[in-house]
Amino acid sequence: MEKRNVYLDSSATTKVREEVLKEMLPYFTDVYGNASSVHTYGQQSKAALTKARETFAKLINAESPEEIIFTSCGTESDNIAIAGSLLANKGNHVITSKIEHHAILFTCQNLEKKGYKADYISVDKTGIVNIEELKNKITADTVIVSIMHANNEIGVIEPIEEISKVLKEINKTRKNKILLHTDAVQTAGKLKLDVQKLGVDLLSVSGHKFYGPKGIGALYIRKGTKIEPLFHGGHHEFGMKPGTENVAEIVGMTKALELANEEMEQESKKIFKLRNKLMNGIAEKIPEVVINTDIKYAVPSVLSVSFNYLEGESLLLMLDMAGIAASAGSACATGSAEPSHVLSSIGASPLAAQGTLRFSLGRYNTEEDIDYVLDVLPKLVEKVRKMSPVWTSKTEG
Ligand SMILES: *Cc1c(COP(=O)(O)O)cnc(C)c1O
Repeated sequence: MEKRNVYLDSSATTKVREEVLKEMLPYFTDVYGNASSVHTYGQQSKAALTKARETFAKLINAESPEEIIFTSCGTESDNIAIAGSLLANKGNHVITSKIEHHAILFTCQNLEKKGYKADYISVDKTGIVNIEELKNKITADTVIVSIMHANNEIGVIEPIEEISKVLKEINKTRKNKILLHTDAVQTAGKLKLDVQKLGVDLLSVSGHKFYGPKGIGALYIRKGTKIEPLFHGGHHEFGMKPGTENVAEIVGMTKALELANEEMEQESKKIFKLRNKLMNGIAEKIPEVVINTDIKYAVPSVLSVSFNYLEGESLLLMLDMAGIAASAGSACATGSAEPSHVLSSIGASPLAAQGTLRFSLGRYNTEEDIDYVLDVLPKLVEKVRKMSPVWTSKTEG
């Protein structure tokens, strides 16, 4: 088959859509006023900011635009949600899961060094958090529970609504209500986000994961939630994120979410089909593989596969040479020798974890892309395994 370029790393980042770029361009050139300025230049930017905030609020079914603050990325939203609520509320305890993104895990670990307490809830082999364990960890000092909406490595969707119901019951008997945060960076633009239905107090989003620009995010903060800013300066974003607003990217991210929501049904059907084609093809053509993504409980775009008896990084480089972009575990874990915390939490053996790749599909992928991958991948797996001493000793023994 003829070589082609296939991007299967949409969970790491995506390309900015043409419509989004077009929407942003005037705010880099003609409409450049500081949204805090009183003159016409400023007021034009302010109007765009206000409109974006109103649209964004509607897209996630927030009650009012004041519940949305625009941040610099998903990581910043996560940090404000966790550290900001611990600073503002009585109590010193956060509960999260073992499979969160490092934006959550490392924030919690850092808070532990500062004297706060953190518990990390385990997950089953699908990756779903153990709600009984979560309940048992709650103490009088618990301020916030933070569980991701969908995992970035294996795609599993967590039962946020159910967790919200459990917390609402417990909160009935408490003076200091426990807050619920969800990192929805991997679901924004892929699943309809409804903060009322989810029953969350805080929700993080990042623009570049759904065909918006990089370096822009949002945090939903339910009205009445006590939270402190982590940075101090101007009154921007209701004091929660001081600094001159990035109007162009705020407008761009909002447009991207609007488009994603409009096209969600047909896009997810298409992506789901392609992902399953990839999964079935891999299972059919390649021996000794373990599929880590349980498609019954996962976003349609992600497929995590362990190729036993090989080094994931080597396979990744070979794929790259063949024009195919995937990732080992997750983009953020690349470069570390440790097996992924997500894979070890779902019970994957260190051997399997070592040979794990994440394929994440997006709106630009086609049938032909998958056909090409299914042609190239089996040959490359065989090639890499031949170089692997564990595979050689297995086949010889
Ligand atoms: C990508 C990602 C983040 C970080 O978002 P940035 O905007 O890159 O900081 C946080 N959480 C999850 C689940 C992610 O996938």
